Amino acid sequence: MIIRFAILPLFLALNLSMCKKQESVSPNSQQASAASPTPATVAAPVATPVPKITKPVVDQTAQVIIFCYHRLVDKVRYPGTEITPAAFEAQMKELKDRGITVISMQDLLAWKRGEKSIPPRSAIITFDDGWKSQYEVAWPIMKKYGYPFTMFIYTEGVRGGSLGGGEAITWEQLADMRDNGVDIEGHSATHQDLREGHTIMIANPGGKRTRTKLTGDQYEQWMQNEVVGSKQLLEQRLGIKVNCFAVPFGNYNEHVKEIARNSGYEAMFTVYGQPITFTSPMDSIGRYAIEANKPKVFDDAVKMIATSTGGGTAVAEVGAKDLATQPADGETVRTALPLIKANLSALGAIEPGSVQMRVSGLGVVPASFDPKSGTVSYQVTQKLHEKSCSVIISAKSEGKKVETHWTFGIEEGPAGGTSPIPTPKK
Ligand SMILES: [Zn+2]
Repeated sequence: MIIRFAILPLFLALNLSMCKKQESVSPNSQQASAASPTPATVAAPVATPVPKITKPVVDQTAQVIIFCYHRLVDKVRYPGTEITPAAFEAQMKELKDRGITVISMQDLLAWKRGEKSIPPRSAIITFDDGWKSQYEVAWPIMKKYGYPFTMFIYTEGVRGGSLGGGEAITWEQLADMRDNGVDIEGHSATHQDLREGHTIMIANPGGKRTRTKLTGDQYEQWMQNEVVGSKQLLEQRLGIKVNCFAVPFGNYNEHVKEIARNSGYEAMFTVYGQPITFTSPMDSIGRYAIEANKPKVFDDAVKMIATSTGGGTAVAEVGAKDLATQPADGETVRTALPLIKANLSALGAIEPGSVQMRVSGLGVVPASFDPKSGTVSYQVTQKLHEKSCSVIISAKSEGKKVETHWTFGIEEGPAGGTSPIPTPKK
């Protein structure tokens, strides 16, 4: 019963905010009409002999490390979530000294979409939970270094919310940050374990809180507010678009990911730090949580990409045709276990240790490279599940990074079979 009490107001709030959203749509109607059917004057496709580029070429070898900070305090009492301003600033300086570029979260997403390149060794700074010290202490330091950053906010933790105490950030401070280009993203409504069946705290009208475990419909309703309601609140209160979600405590499962994905979040973040690559899945991006008593976490993260092959060299894109790839670009093969091969000898003297092959759905594969023939090859051992497969090969040739990528199709079934045969497997 108590639970239902709590959930009802949430739904009311949701409905209200939905109404508001509709109202605020009308001023934009001109935009909608501008986009309305314009006579399609699409030029007839002209065949050009130039190799087609379906996506802008971005540097797919870049790596990103993402840091997660909480409170900045002079006297650390909770080393798990606090750091001194001096230690924080030293870390920001170290990134600069090591030539690691701090980029914005939206640049990371644009890179992952294949829209723009990012520096080969990049870092992203994020702050969780919305603390006053992030506004008062961290922000000036970030300004000093000219670094962009992201704030992950749980809406009930903002000052005035049911969980927003005296150390919490205010909506006004968030608006000030927004006006100055700070990225503000979602971190749920009440910052609790989002997996079904875990003990959570429910706020009752009147402020009393109850521990409970939600399942079934009640859980789903609660989740709607945690994942969707909190996103709408941030978007409406601040007039922003929220497309990133930091999972509270980094605890998630497939269902949590699915709800977040369906709610319009483009990326989900955890706290299991690891360098992010072009092919890292977007629904579980690891961040390094920096704690005052574990300085090694920062050092290790920085080392992880300090040793990468990057180094700011431009990537030269080489057409797959020149490399006699197998399967060829655009070819369709009859097996989900193809042998993938390319001859890199057209690229000049290849540094043997630098050859890397990536296969969509598999990531980096242990391809073998024969320096004599210049051939790099990999026999797929794990069935490819998609109908098309992209291969990216990168290597270093005379100090320059070269790269090629191509795509082939997979149509498993009896060779020569013309009619699509349903294959009821399992
Ligand atoms: Zn948090």
